[in-house]
Amino acid sequence: MTPPEADTVLVRYGDIGVKSTKVQRDMERTLEANLRAMLDIRNVTCELDWRWSRPRIRTDADAATAATDAACDTFGIVSASPAISTEPTMESIREALSETAAGSEVEGPFAVDARRAGERDDHPFTSKDIEREGGRAVWDALDDPEVDLEDPARTFHVECRPEEAFVFVEKRAGPGGLPLGSQRPLVALLSGGIDSPVAAWEVMKRGSPVIPLYFDFEAYGGVDHVARAIESARTLAGYAPNHARDLRIAPAGAAADRLVSDVGPTRMLSLRRFMLRVAERVAEETRAAGIVTGEAIGQKSSQTSANLAVTDCVTDLPVHRPLLAWDKQEIIARARELDTYEDATIEAGCNRIAPDYPETNASLEAVEGNEPDLGTLVAEAVAGIERVEP
Ligand code: ATP
Ligand code: MG
Repeated sequence: MTPPEADTVLVRYGDIGVKSTKVQRDMERTLEANLRAMLDIRNVTCELDWRWSRPRIRTDADAATAATDAACDTFGIVSASPAISTEPTMESIREALSETAAGSEVEGPFAVDARRAGERDDHPFTSKDIEREGGRAVWDALDDPEVDLEDPARTFHVECRPEEAFVFVEKRAGPGGLPLGSQRPLVALLSGGIDSPVAAWEVMKRGSPVIPLYFDFEAYGGVDHVARAIESARTLAGYAPNHARDLRIAPAGAAADRLVSDVGPTRMLSLRRFMLRVAERVAEETRAAGIVTGEAIGQKSSQTSANLAVTDCVTDLPVHRPLLAWDKQEIIARARELDTYEDATIEAGCNRIAPDYPETNASLEAVEGNEPDLGTLVAEAVAGIERVEP
C-alpha cells in the first residue's frame, strides 16, 4: 500500500552491496541510468535522489505507486517502498504514522517496526522509543486497534536517519540480480514459445543485455510464430528501456528443407547446431559473450543430457541454459509473472520438422556423419537476417 501522502520511494539493492567499492560504484551508476530510463519511459514525474547505497525517488502522492512499479521492474533492485518523508523528530514521526494508519486499507492486528541509523547522539531517542510512541499514535488513529508483535497483519515501518525519517507499510519485491549492462550481452535464441523468454529474462536479471534472435522456419512454421516472437521481444524490451531492442529474424526455411530431406533421427540435433552456428555469427558482430536458450534437461528429445552435449560441440561460445533444472510448471509460473505466457500460447502447430523417431542418446560421430555441410546454409541465413523493432 502507498501511504496517502507518500512523497518518496526508498530503493534497496542486494548483490551490488557485497561488491568491492569500485565495482559497487560502477554498478550503482549503471543502476541509476537504468532506473532513470525506466521512470522516463513510463512518464513518472519524479527526481532521482541518488545517494551512495541509499537511492531514493522523490515524487508526489499521485506518482508514488507508478514510481514504485518502475523500481520493481528494474534489475538489481531487491525491494522498494513508497514512503512519507518527514523530520527526524518524534513528533513528526508520530504524525506521519498516524496519517498512514488512518489511510490503511489492511485490517487486523498491527506492529510498528523502527530502525534508526547514524551516530548514537543523532537522535534523542532509540528505535525502541519510536516503536513504543509510534505504536501509541497508530493505536489512536485506528478504529478498532489490536497489537500483535509476533504475527501482525500489517506492519508500520519507520526508518529514521540523521537528516530525515521515513514511514512506510510495504516492501514491494523487485527482481533482484544485477543492473542490466553490468555484464557483456548474450545472444538469446527466442522462439516465442514459453521457455525462451523466461531464459532471456533470467540472464537479463544477472546483468546481461540480450540480442534476441528468431529463426523463421517459413513453410514449416507460420506467421503467428513470428508474431509471438516479436511479442516476447517487446515484453523483454520493456525491462530494458535504455538498451537495443531489435529482434533479429533469420530465414531458416532452406535449412529446414535440407535437413528434412537429408537427415533422419538426428535431424533436430543438426537443426540446433545450425541455429547455434548462426547465433555465433551474430555474437561476433555484437560482441556478445555467449548464447542463451530455454532448454531444460529432458524437456524434449533434443534436450536429453546426452544430446545437449552433442549440440554444444558445434560452437566455441558457452551456451547458457538458465532453465536447465526447471520443471515446466515452474517455467509457466514465471512466464505468467513476466506476462510472456499469453503470447507464448497462441496456437502454433509446428512440429513439422521433427522426425517420427528422434534420437535421444546421440553420439557426436553419428550426428556429424549424418549431417550435410551446414556452412552454406549458415552463410545464407546470416546474410538474410532482418532486424525488426518489436
Ligand atoms: P520455448 O522453449 O521457447 O518455449 P519450445 O519449447 O517450443 O519453445 P524447444 O524445442 O524447446 O522450443 O526449443 C528449445 C530452445 O531452442 C528454445 O527455448 C529456444 O531458445 C530455441 N529455439 C527453438 N526454436 C527456435 C526458433 N524458431 N528461433 C529461435 N530459437 C529457437
Ligand atoms: Mg522448450
